[in-house]
Amino acid sequence: MNKRPRMKERYRHFSFLSDIEGMKNALGEMHGLFFLGQPVLNQEVRRIDPGGIPDEKWFIQTIKDKIASHPENAMEYPFYGEPIYEDPLIGFVRGNDPIFDQFKSIIGPHHFTPWEIMKWQADNNSVKPPDPEDISVVSFVMPFTPKTKQDNAAATDWVAERWAQSRLLGEIFSQSLVREIVDGLMSQGILAVAPDVTPMFNKKRYPNVGWASPWSHRHIAYAAGLGTFGMHDFLITEKGCAHRLGSFVVNLKLEPGRQRPDDIHAHCLNYQGVSCLKCVKRCPANAITRENAHDKEACYRKVAASLKYCNTNYHIFIYGCGLCATGVPCESSIPEALRFSE
Ligand code: SF4
Ligand code: SF4
Repeated sequence: MNKRPRMKERYRHFSFLSDIEGMKNALGEMHGLFFLGQPVLNQEVRRIDPGGIPDEKWFIQTIKDKIASHPENAMEYPFYGEPIYEDPLIGFVRGNDPIFDQFKSIIGPHHFTPWEIMKWQADNNSVKPPDPEDISVVSFVMPFTPKTKQDNAAATDWVAERWAQSRLLGEIFSQSLVREIVDGLMSQGILAVAPDVTPMFNKKRYPNVGWASPWSHRHIAYAAGLGTFGMHDFLITEKGCAHRLGSFVVNLKLEPGRQRPDDIHAHCLNYQGVSCLKCVKRCPANAITRENAHDKEACYRKVAASLKYCNTNYHIFIYGCGLCATGVPCESSIPEALRFSE
């Protein structure tokens, strides 16, 4: 059973006041509040047995195992018994990859490099920050279930209940997942940090990119070769674009292993000259157009308005939409016409 209490009796009665976990989650996302304290680096571990140092295989298996069997990967009322996420994809990118400097100009100077966020964690522990070449980022894609995708694909104006609940509980679970891995590494004397569970992770409106956080899981996942961007700005992976993403930084040299397409739109039909624009038709806010692709501000207004809708109708404190990521050819895979073109 999920560690959150059974909510059937509780939140259904006091919709705007009762989903405390949801409110805490929203404040954490916007202002970096309410996170548990950071784990302390075990500096007594002077030499780790080389055979015991986590490698790429260890990270892949550990994340897969957590998604397969973690008690928090579980939906609540009225979807008891269903998982939130299916089998994930995992990739790696080195801390000295020049793409992180490009992100500073593409996203903005506020976006952390892996070294900057690792330095914050090193300073917390009064140790010297590792060099960028000794750092890696572990990135993962957690696909939503077919039922969640089907429900949202059937929605036309507002987010479906399964999708809304998956966003809220999925985010809470994702934070537990990274925290458990980071805690384990720190206890072994390996410096690690999950930026989205630190007070450094706060969303703001920036001049060039609108609402953004200082650590974009989406851009990190692209850097790790896990997917490319669509017209809707979601990341299209081999398991589609209906997912949540996560990432964390470790003081280990992990091999990237996945090829990153140079074309950041390699998996989007429209950008590759194949007729599509299904996401344009799916958007109830006209926030995606052929000419200008994704208008983040128009999207933001619709998504922000969904908070009231979700609270009134689903009695949880979350916002969401994702209509353009469901009922489209890139929902659950790279569109067939582009699958073998790389
Ligand atoms: S629906 Fe079509 S145009 Fe829109 S992102 Fe997906 S592949 Fe691209
Ligand atoms: S998330 Fe919703 S509002 Fe935003 S672009 Fe997609 S369909 Fe439109």
